Amino acid sequence: MIINLPDADALTETALRLYFDAWDRLRGILADWDTRIPDAPLAKPIPALWKEEVEAYLDDCQADLQAIIAVIQQSNELALKAKLCAVSPYLLLLENPIPMSNDPKPLDFFDLKTIDAQKLPQAVNTLCATPLPATFLTRFDGLRKVRNRYTHLGHAGAHLYPIKMMHSLLDQFLELWPDRDWLSDRIRVAHHDRAAGFGDKFWNPAYGVLQMWSGDVSLMPPAKFRALFGIRPKDLRYLCHACRKEAATREGLFGLSAPTAYLLPDGLTIQCFACQKPTSAVREKCERSKCGAEVMGAGEHDGMCHRCGHERGSPFDDEDNTSSGSLATLLTLPQSSVRTAETRRQEIVRESLANHQ
Ligand SMILES: [Zn+2]
Ligand SMILES: [Zn+2]
Repeated sequence: MIINLPDADALTETALRLYFDAWDRLRGILADWDTRIPDAPLAKPIPALWKEEVEAYLDDCQADLQAIIAVIQQSNELALKAKLCAVSPYLLLLENPIPMSNDPKPLDFFDLKTIDAQKLPQAVNTLCATPLPATFLTRFDGLRKVRNRYTHLGHAGAHLYPIKMMHSLLDQFLELWPDRDWLSDRIRVAHHDRAAGFGDKFWNPAYGVLQMWSGDVSLMPPAKFRALFGIRPKDLRYLCHACRKEAATREGLFGLSAPTAYLLPDGLTIQCFACQKPTSAVREKCERSKCGAEVMGAGEHDGMCHRCGHERGSPFDDEDNTSSGSLATLLTLPQSSVRTAETRRQEIVRESLANHQ
C-alpha cells in the first residue's frame, strides 16, 4: 500500500496561502513606492514628471517580481494537483510507474515521482468534471515559461509589471476557484501566517486584512470586482458587525471601518463578502448627523449603524459636533492622522516581512 497520500483540501489551502502571499508581496511593492511618492501612485496613470523614476523603480523590482511569479506558479500547480487529488490522490502518480513488488512493505507517497507540472492542466481537463477555462490554460503556460527561465537562467526574459500581475491574480482566482470567496479565504489564510501569533492590543490577523480591504478594492478593476463579489465597486457597501467584532483588537472596534457587506434588494438583509452570513437589519436613521444612513443592526447588533458603526446612545465623536466648528476639526485631525499613519506603518511592516520570506 501507499502511505502519506496527499489531501485535496490541504493542497488547496497551501495554494491559497501562496496566492495571497503573492498578492501581499505585490501590494508591498506598490506601497514601497506610494509611501515615498504619494503624488504618483503606481496603480494610477503616472504623471510625466515621474515617468523616468517609475521606470527605474520597476527595473529594480524585476528580481522581486520574478520571484513572485515563481510563487504564483507554485500556487497554480498546487491548485491543479488539489483538483486531481479530489478525484483520487493516485492520479498524481499518472505517467510514472509505481515500483510494484511482492514485498508488502508500504510505499511512501513522497518517495514517488508525481505527474509533470506541464501536464497538470491536460490531466485536470481529461479527468475532472469541471474543465479549466482557455484563459487559464494560456496564462498557466505563459507563467510556466517565465518561471522556468527565471529558475534556470536567473532572469524571466520579460519585463514584469506589478499591476498587471495583480489583475492576472484576480483572473486566476476566478478561473481556479469559481466557487470560493476571495475575502473569506484572505482572512482565513491570514489566521495561519507567521504573523498570526502576534495579535495584540493593536492588531490581529482579521484586523490586518480588513485594514487592507479598501486598498485591495482600489486595485481591482470594476469588472473583476463584480465577477468576484457580485456587485459593482461603486455600489454602496456596508459594515458587517459580526466581522468587525471578530476582528476587534483588545483596544476594541477602533479603526474597523471596512465595508465588507452589501444590502440585498429586500432592504433588510446585509450580505457579507467575508463571513458570507446574511444578517437582518432594520430601517432606522443613524443618530450621527454626518451619516444619515437608515440601515441599522438587529438582534445582537441592535442599534449599530451598518454604514458608520455608531452605536445608538453612545457618545458622538468630535467630528459630529459640528457646532464647535474649527475647534472640533483641530481636535480630530491629529488623532485621525496619527491612527492612519500607525495603521499604514503596520501594513508596511507586514508587507516588508512578507517580502523577505
Ligand atoms: Zn461578515
Ligand atoms: Zn451611521
